[in-house]
Amino acid sequence: MNVYDSERMADLLKPLGFIITETPEAADMVILNTCHIREKASEKVYSELGRIREYKEERKLNNQNMVIAVAGCTAQAEGEEILKRANYVDVIVGPQSYHRLPQILAEIERKTSSVKGAGRGILEIDFPVESKFDFLPEATDIVGVTSFLSIQEGCDKFCHFCVVPYTRGAEYSRPVQDIYEEACGLVEKGIREITLLGQNVNAYHGTFSNGQEEGWSLGKLIKYLSNIPELQRIRYVTSHPVDVNQDQINAHRDIEKLMPYLHLPIQSGSDRILKLMNRKHTAVYYLEIIEKLRTARPDIAFSSDFIVGYPGETNTDFEDTLKLIENVNFASAYSFKYSPRPGTPASMLDDQVPEEVKTERLMRLQELLFKQQLAFNESLVGKRIPVLFEKTGRHEGQLVGRSPYLQSVYAEASTRLIGKCVEMVITKASQNSLTGAVVIQEKIAV
Ligand code: SAH
Ligand code: SF4
Repeated sequence: MNVYDSERMADLLKPLGFIITETPEAADMVILNTCHIREKASEKVYSELGRIREYKEERKLNNQNMVIAVAGCTAQAEGEEILKRANYVDVIVGPQSYHRLPQILAEIERKTSSVKGAGRGILEIDFPVESKFDFLPEATDIVGVTSFLSIQEGCDKFCHFCVVPYTRGAEYSRPVQDIYEEACGLVEKGIREITLLGQNVNAYHGTFSNGQEEGWSLGKLIKYLSNIPELQRIRYVTSHPVDVNQDQINAHRDIEKLMPYLHLPIQSGSDRILKLMNRKHTAVYYLEIIEKLRTARPDIAFSSDFIVGYPGETNTDFEDTLKLIENVNFASAYSFKYSPRPGTPASMLDDQVPEEVKTERLMRLQELLFKQQLAFNESLVGKRIPVLFEKTGRHEGQLVGRSPYLQSVYAEASTRLIGKCVEMVITKASQNSLTGAVVIQEKIAV
């Protein structure tokens, strides 16, 4: 979602004459788009700011200014603190208010040209009544053949470990027609695969256009988008198990363009921990959903998120997570050590798990997940799968594409195939990627 937001910020600033540069030291403005989900991510903000400050100082020596902005969830959660710790920051802007960047820049310009000088940074972290989506211009600088598209934001679930409901705000679904138009615009500019984004993307419940015709679920929306002729692939991320519904399952059964791959975070395989986390479902419920989806779409593969060392997690709880993983067999997964986040209920619990226990559990968990990932990749060797070619590879004559299951696929092929979905036979598999050969279509004698 931060990638999507960063691109939108670039689109917003383009009419003001800004273009993206690869060299931040020469930039008139630097925006740090930040993440607050774990401590490590938000701590990084301060070290990055220290580096950017040096560029700003250097430019000052040449009488040039550099506007430093901090955007994203750390800005939302720690805006005041950032301004205190890094008083050279000019703008703090939250994930739901970055559409105001052009006005904020105009204000900065006024301030810097006034007698009093720049003064204190501007803090823009309200959750505005208007939706930022109504203020974002159409994307112009499209590169590549795949794109993200935000359809839903915010979260009302309040899992006890998570900052998202506080930083991204309440759940909101964009109207279908706005999403459809954005998708058509992307496809016109060469995009062939769209990943629909949302914190709880399967909680999507939009209206067709502002307030009109309610009852649009994610499944119904995907069906509608699949009518765009040149759009070849649709994905969505991230789903919550509690929100999985029949429309979503049917979409996997019926819509060929919807990729047979689902990221469905469970966090823990222990019912006790799931309850403490406020996840509102059990491990068995999760397994039942997996079964239903496999029945609807037999070639579907799953990925998930896991947290180890949640406060109070015992060895038995952890073993339950390993059992669940054995049971499901994941094609890939993300796993994290529990990181206490300010203001969340879990961070206030007494029975925090010691760091070395978290580290040991994470290693064991990842060993199992990596084994499953490799086995899944190897199971594709000798099989035919469609690959969407995205770009040239590092070696001469090499192209890189994606399988339906999101692995990178390498092949010797002509650049004419970029943007095309091509049948390939997989010849080799490794932990993170596949190698394949393009299947030559047999000529049929008439
Ligand atoms: N809405 C999604 C998750 C969004 S956050 C869902 O409910 O599934 C992405 C992932 O970050 C989570 O799935 C979780 O595994 C991880 N995460 C969130 N807060 C965390 C914390 N405090 N410590 C460690 N990992 C965390
Ligand atoms: Fe965070 Fe996801 Fe839980 Fe919402 S549903 S609080 S985003 S983990």
